[in-house]
Amino acid sequence: MVEVDLNHIYKRYPGNDRNSVNDFDLHIKEKEFIVFVGPSGCGKSTTLRMVAGLEDISEGTLEIDHKVMNDVAPKDRDIAMVFQNYALYPHMTIYDNMAFGLKLRHYAKDEIDKRVKNAAKILGLEDYLDKKPGELSGGQRQRVALGRAIVRDAPIFLMDEPLSNLDAKLRVSMRAEIAKLHQRLGTTTIYVTHDQTEAMTLADRVVVMSVGKVQQIGTPLEVYNKP
Ligand code: ADP
Ligand code: ADP
Repeated sequence: MVEVDLNHIYKRYPGNDRNSVNDFDLHIKEKEFIVFVGPSGCGKSTTLRMVAGLEDISEGTLEIDHKVMNDVAPKDRDIAMVFQNYALYPHMTIYDNMAFGLKLRHYAKDEIDKRVKNAAKILGLEDYLDKKPGELSGGQRQRVALGRAIVRDAPIFLMDEPLSNLDAKLRVSMRAEIAKLHQRLGTTTIYVTHDQTEAMTLADRVVVMSVGKVQQIGTPLEVYNKP
């Protein structure tokens, strides 16, 4: 069971005179795909980074399966992240790029091998494991970034505009792949985007934010088909 509760969360960055996140309150169910939308600067990334533990929470609590996580280090949160800038290590092979996070965590060699090959199969990267990132297309490189998250086998995925660096055509196909992946793995997911189509096709529920506040939470139909 993996539920994520954000209980009345606030964030004020040091030196700022207003809250970047203001009373964010959301209860995420197991396997739910949540999408945060809203204009630039409204607090989407900050909220995501607080869930990941990359930013401190000023006020409120974050719970994973009803355990308070505010003071738990990022590496102990069992969360996998995919960023917009999917910085792959250019000098390493695709295999080593995907294995990197597991090596850091001292996984056994054959466990790493099993996970990397399984992720490569899911993502259609089996024939590219010995190549370097420079030899791959943009879409393939983004798939490697997804692979790095998948191998972690974490019950929670956080994705911060993972497709916004891709061209329009690739975005459409990668969006479908992310939907399939979620169906297959059932990972509880928070996904940040500017793109309404991504929100509509991927989300179980959409969270609409505006200047640090949650404006609306609902299914894509509820949010986008209002009279
Ligand atoms: P979004 O992801 O929706 O574009 P952010 O979470 O990045 O929004 O930013 C929310 C607000 O917090 C913005 O006003 C931004 O300027 C401010 N902010 C973000 N990061 C920092 C930081 N490290 N220090 C100070 N203010 C920040
Ligand atoms: P991963 O295997 O998921 O890439 P790493 O072991 O490389 O994770 O990183 C350790 C922790 O640092 C992770 O838990 C993640 O939350 C955080 N992290 C990973 N990449 C970034 C990034 N580009 N910016 C900020 N924090 C990151």
